[in-house]
Amino acid sequence: MVVRAYRFALDLTRRQERAVLAHAGAGRVAYNWALARVKAVMEQRGAERSYGIAESGLTPTIEWSLPALRKAWNAAKPDVAPWWAECSKEAFNTGLDALVRGVNSWSDSRTGKRAGRRVGFPRFKSRRRSTPSVRFTTGAIRVEPDRKHVVLPRLGRLKLHESARKLARRLEAGTARIMSATVRRDAGRWHVAFTVEVDRVERTPARPQAVVGVDVGVKHLAVLSTGTMEPNPRHLEDAARRMRRLARRLSRRVGPDRRSRQQPSRRWERARRQVARAHARVANLRRDGLHKLTTRLAREYGTIVVEDLNVAGMLRNRRLARRIADAGFGELRRQLAYKTTWNGGHLVVADRWYPSSKTCSACGTVKAKLALSARTYTCTTCGLVLDRDVNAARNLAALARQATTAGSGPVAGRGADRKTRPGGPVAVKRQPGTTQVGKAGTVPQDGTANHMLTRAH
Ligand SMILES: [Zn+2]
Repeated sequence: MVVRAYRFALDLTRRQERAVLAHAGAGRVAYNWALARVKAVMEQRGAERSYGIAESGLTPTIEWSLPALRKAWNAAKPDVAPWWAECSKEAFNTGLDALVRGVNSWSDSRTGKRAGRRVGFPRFKSRRRSTPSVRFTTGAIRVEPDRKHVVLPRLGRLKLHESARKLARRLEAGTARIMSATVRRDAGRWHVAFTVEVDRVERTPARPQAVVGVDVGVKHLAVLSTGTMEPNPRHLEDAARRMRRLARRLSRRVGPDRRSRQQPSRRWERARRQVARAHARVANLRRDGLHKLTTRLAREYGTIVVEDLNVAGMLRNRRLARRIADAGFGELRRQLAYKTTWNGGHLVVADRWYPSSKTCSACGTVKAKLALSARTYTCTTCGLVLDRDVNAARNLAALARQATTAGSGPVAGRGADRKTRPGGPVAVKRQPGTTQVGKAGTVPQDGTANHMLTRAH
């Protein structure tokens, strides 16, 4: 069994949109109510502690588990939200659940149970700033036989913008079960996302022994060690140009200013919506291209090698194309991680200090310097002349072969996720089912110490 998400765009009528917004608002009310409660008790205890009251004499903590909050909410809702009967109880549950997760993340992060960046304490949600969404976990959730409509509790029959045939086929075959459905507005467009439990099919890649290195590019979607340069999706350039133009327009409008209490102009609001839509379009195009690529790779190759976090991208680059490529990099890796698992393949993540761009893929010489602008790799030792990204991709592929001969098998594990401080190696995030190679000690490598100093790329 694997859990998969299926997401479809919706065409809501005005009335349906109002109903969804009402449900999202109800969730927000429950969220804010519960947050206020949790906060009040915590502040009370803090104050009591500062007066020197013993721990046992403090106001008792409230339990912030979902069942406990739900019980408290049901007792309080006639006063807090006299209109509660108009909305599905799932709406309030969405809000309470979000708060429980938020408080837990904050508390786990504080006690060190949760790795990664520090998580702040949950904040109140405002109508203007939050993304409207509502999740249904029980009741009538189904895809209509015409595959063009879905039925959700309270909201009824909603029209899909696209066909849900992929999900419908699985549901009809009995190999999938819907666990929940979330309706949500992203950048002005409504979507429904189904979380589905799917029977897993054992698969093997077409070429189990084949290895491919993948390097994410700016000019190309990706460059493979086979020498193939995967082109960017069609219309991506146009969409990016439009996005730049709209961003310039937005900057000329009168935006909000907290200090002078300047309210944003209507034209600013409109421009902002357009920018958000253009952003979403660029992201969608790119994601779609990446999905097609990663599916193809995971079905074909037994082993796929990618780099760890894009070090060059972490040096805040202001170039838009670069930023888009960097965002695509994380997405590529995420998709490959689960798709290789589904297809019985294997993803290898090269260490972030592995100098894939600076190493000659023919003789192994490592250059001390390689300008980002140099598009071709020219080796002064053996005379190799090769496209920069193809050279990098080839080095990545070679790394996987090294790893297998060196005898370091797959290591599944989760490491701590920390931000890299420039200039030093730190713990590196690993996805489950991936192997980390290229680290000193695991794989024989020359000049490991230098890699630390010369930020790879
Ligand atoms: Zn060489």
